[in-house]
Amino acid sequence: MKVSVIGASGRVGKAAAFSLAEESVVSEVVLLSREKSLGQVQGEALDMNDAMAAKDIRVSITPTSNFEDMADSKIVVITAGVPRTPEMTRMDVAVPNAKIVAEYARLVAKYAPESIILVITNPVDIMTYVAYKASGFPRSRVIGLGNHLDSLRLKNLIAKHFNIHVSEIHTRIIGEHGDNMVLLLSSTSIGGILVKDFPQYQSFDVESIVDKVKNAGSYVINKKGATEYGPAFAISNTVKTIINDEKRILTLTTYLDGEIYGVGDVCLGVPVKLGINGVERIIGVKMSDKELEDFTKAAKTVKKAKDKIMATLK
Ligand code: NAP
Repeated sequence: MKVSVIGASGRVGKAAAFSLAEESVVSEVVLLSREKSLGQVQGEALDMNDAMAAKDIRVSITPTSNFEDMADSKIVVITAGVPRTPEMTRMDVAVPNAKIVAEYARLVAKYAPESIILVITNPVDIMTYVAYKASGFPRSRVIGLGNHLDSLRLKNLIAKHFNIHVSEIHTRIIGEHGDNMVLLLSSTSIGGILVKDFPQYQSFDVESIVDKVKNAGSYVINKKGATEYGPAFAISNTVKTIINDEKRILTLTTYLDGEIYGVGDVCLGVPVKLGINGVERIIGVKMSDKELEDFTKAAKTVKKAKDKIMATLK
């Protein structure tokens, strides 16, 4: 199975490519970069090859600026985007990033028309909408990383508070990958038991946990300049789930058409059943009144921003 990464000289792009190369289900990784970064991705590819030799992994790693080389990819991961400077707002990067993502999504449609697009570029919910419209792909084949990483961060925090193995934590963040993320506390369970039934729940400060998840990305960026390992593993995890046709339920961004409380014409993070064809089903979620209120707010906010961005593309 061949997987291509666009924006491969970037911190997320190269970390994701490295993590993908290690996956036994991936036989070929294509590092796609603009001409100006080709030298760097050639270096990255050689370095990765050395690491693979050390691990006895046989995988083809191709650095290139020729976008035709993504042909026959099963999945194309779009990580390209302009860096955000401190004085820029999220919307400021949304405008240039929408142009970049739209252009790349069209190239994917041209050279890898059967592939699945996995969008990482922020603001990811809006960029997923842009890629969906620009590629002309069915919605099942245009997915955003959405709240997958947020949900993993939340799992970690819950595991730590309750001192229970992370694999036992079943929880989700849905909505926007950003300020309007929604913790689905009403359905959070540990080992199949509702979290509210655990004695340690008394000291579980939900607001502070949500704040920690919301600010986790900024915290890492402030400390080390970028998030790398978290997104990289979240990406390879998603890719593996698709290629292995695992039918797992991950919280990813997908185009909604009324499936969740009637919300439509917007891309948001929701639980989806993921398999070889991409999003095979959107899983209906039952929310508490507060969760629904927050989810509706997220939908309105993202939709309004999306309309604004789509108008600039026209
Ligand atoms: P980065 O290190 O700045 O890399 C971005 C890459 O995008 C660059 O290396 C470049 O790749 C490409 N690029 C930059 N300017 C471009 C332009 N004008 N036209 C076309 N391509 C351009 O950024 P990063 O830290 O890797 O983050 C990449 C994106 O992922 C950002 O939008 C970030 O916010 C997002 N992100 C999302 C999540 C999530 O959970 N959804 C998590 C982390 C990061 P080439 O030169 O190789 O083409």
